[in-house]
Amino acid sequence: MKNKFFTRNFEPAAQSLQVVRKGMVIKMIKIDHLSTSYSTINGPVHVINDVDFEIQENEIFGIAGESGCGKTTLLKALYDIVEFPMVVDAGKVTLSGQKNGEDFSYKTGQIRKTWWNNISYVPQAAQSVLNPIVPLKNQFLDSIPKAEKKRETKEQTIKRVADYLEELSLSPDLLKAYPFQLSGGMRQRVIIALATFMAPNVVLADEPTTALDVVVQRGILMMLMRLQKQLQNTMVIVSHDMGVHYQITDRMGIMYSGSIVELGKTEHIFEKPIHPYTQMLVGALPRVGDKSPKAGIPGRPPALTNPPPGCRFAPRCPKATRECRETIPKFREVEQGRFAACHLLNEEREGQHV
Ligand code: SF4
Repeated sequence: MKNKFFTRNFEPAAQSLQVVRKGMVIKMIKIDHLSTSYSTINGPVHVINDVDFEIQENEIFGIAGESGCGKTTLLKALYDIVEFPMVVDAGKVTLSGQKNGEDFSYKTGQIRKTWWNNISYVPQAAQSVLNPIVPLKNQFLDSIPKAEKKRETKEQTIKRVADYLEELSLSPDLLKAYPFQLSGGMRQRVIIALATFMAPNVVLADEPTTALDVVVQRGILMMLMRLQKQLQNTMVIVSHDMGVHYQITDRMGIMYSGSIVELGKTEHIFEKPIHPYTQMLVGALPRVGDKSPKAGIPGRPPALTNPPPGCRFAPRCPKATRECRETIPKFREVEQGRFAACHLLNEEREGQHV
């Protein structure tokens, strides 16, 4: 059946989007020794532990890991939605860039001043974020900052939104629709359109393809890639699905139990993972033509309320040593642009061949 909300084939879309930047260009997101916890009646639960890395301008950066490893909490910290019971225990997030030709930076606590104009967020289960009984036109108008709306009449703003939807291969008729009239995939596209309408430098997307069938997933990934290319912005994609990272990210970080354990170019991580956890994750992926038996990762991630001392992966790691069980491995650059936290790598890099 023809989908009445698509105006043309989704993928080709050769024309450029109109990019109107509001005087600021974010060049880097710096996550500086960040630790966060959730306050509970039984005491704090430490969810992010000393995470320290940078995301560069104009890249698609992926954050992967099992459910409960802290991916969403990290993304919330990047977007500055730190609200009780979530607490930042140490470190900070900084957006650095240029504003009117001069260097600027916003730190945690100030980043929300840049919401929508410079950084936007596609939350997990975004499809349920839309108010089902409010027409999409009103939801778009509500999301546009007041200062922006003052520059033009309401009709001009609606026209710009309609034009933007068309540029994303979506019908302007969507503006008259209510969210309950749309499929899950279409609601996800609308949320992405909402989050990118102001041409933000940075888009954070939490599990943008979860709960969608593979055909719709493909359409959403194509939409994100196309937007990144045409808006020339930075995207941070959180997903537990390694296939999503393989398809669209430039670099990625692997999270385990609240820490980044490996970080590097996506192609390198898939071709030659160096951390034992990443090796097991990548080794478990099915590949076309590969009929070898696939093993899962035995055991479960540790409870964040009572993590093991030393390396948190040690109870599941076939290479664990006594040192692993006693000492937390440092997250360090093991080769140019490649970071990992593993005692074994320290020894191997310093002495023997990996
Ligand atoms: Fe395995 Fe030890 Fe490396 Fe942890 S530090 S991943 S336990 S080898």
